[in-house]
Amino acid sequence: MKYVFAILLMVVMTLGATRAWAAPAADTAPAVSASTAAASTTHFDVDAATNAYMAELSPQARAKSDAYFEGGYWLILWDLLVALGVAWLLLGTRLSARMRDFAERITRFRWLQTAIYAVQYILLTSLLSLPWSIYENFVREHQYGLSNQNFGQWLGEQITALVVGLILGTVALVIIYAVIRKATRTWWLWGAGVAIVFSIFVGTIAPVYIAPLFNTYKSLPASPLKGQILSMARANGIPATDVYWFDASRQSKRISANVSGMFGTTRISLNDNLMNRSTPAEIKGVLGHEMGHYVLNHVYKGLAFFSIIIVLGFAFVRWGFAWTERRWGTRWGIRGVGDVAGLPLIGALFSIFMFFMTPVNNTLTRTTEAEADAFGLNAARQPDGFARAAVQLSEYRKMRPGPIEEFVFYDHPSGWNRIHRAMIWKAEHVDDADIRQEESIAPAGAR
Ligand SMILES: [Zn+2]
Repeated sequence: MKYVFAILLMVVMTLGATRAWAAPAADTAPAVSASTAAASTTHFDVDAATNAYMAELSPQARAKSDAYFEGGYWLILWDLLVALGVAWLLLGTRLSARMRDFAERITRFRWLQTAIYAVQYILLTSLLSLPWSIYENFVREHQYGLSNQNFGQWLGEQITALVVGLILGTVALVIIYAVIRKATRTWWLWGAGVAIVFSIFVGTIAPVYIAPLFNTYKSLPASPLKGQILSMARANGIPATDVYWFDASRQSKRISANVSGMFGTTRISLNDNLMNRSTPAEIKGVLGHEMGHYVLNHVYKGLAFFSIIIVLGFAFVRWGFAWTERRWGTRWGIRGVGDVAGLPLIGALFSIFMFFMTPVNNTLTRTTEAEADAFGLNAARQPDGFARAAVQLSEYRKMRPGPIEEFVFYDHPSGWNRIHRAMIWKAEHVDDADIRQEESIAPAGAR
């Protein structure tokens, strides 16, 4: 029944989208453009223009994306509870202590004991949280018509991700535990240091060695649009060959683009959904935003923010571990923070910390996203293209939240905010020749 409802909603949404696409084409009659161009020199109503874009979404489409996104608020809480449940199961049943004992029976090398425990831990926690993961990342995505994968394809990718996680996770844990055992008093600072360095390492190799395991990355096919994108890149000091294209449609229907990598591997990639479902104006608007991330060094600033969060997280774990160990350490069979059997507790404490940091992390990210938006508007000069992309993103992001809701839950500015800012930019440039020309793609109320 739920699927029937979801399909119905999708049909309504698709019809709504088709109507929105058809409307601008019908409205490009020369008489209309000429009269609006004349009118625009005196006045451009930002709010009316914003509302015109908002009106392109049917109430059904709005209700659906609101439900999808608001459901995501609860998922943050459920994710925490699932993580705590799994940790409690490992500790409370002394399964974790037995996994350590098993590793100690196999070898006398400490680092190898850590590795053997780590493999058991990663496999077991993945297995225990699998039912929840199936609901959250497969069933729910299908309920909202956002996924393009069947269960076999989805599970296949989870297994690939598990193998990557096993390799990287085991190496990271062996190093972190070696450091924790060496520095008995300052372990939390050294542990944070290792975690940060390891994240930089993974962030650097990810675009070259990890991302291609899930998607095929190619150079953007030759087209006039590609020429314009490369021109925009060169104009903003970005190495001109760095625009990639990948088959995200293998996984989902979402349009998106991203900047990934660090040092030599930094690259801008756009996904095929964006290429196939968007106009050149939208693509340029979105890539202007991505170039903003690149030029404003958001990867490195993000790393600095992330490092502070990691250090705070380790400080919290240090305090929380000592507090918990005093009460339940003996019952759970944990011999201190240097004992791998305490890893589920460290994991649980980190989950609690990150749960409470949600608004902080989101606000840090959202702030840089708003910076990239501003950069993109100036670089691409496509306020209507960018507004239209914001309308498309409403498929999986609630368009108009309250201010507190946006502060706590949004890692990007809301759709309404992005359209409104684009229209403010447009109002300030409405007499420029290129912006006057762009008006033909705006909805009637946004001219
Ligand atoms: Zn962004």
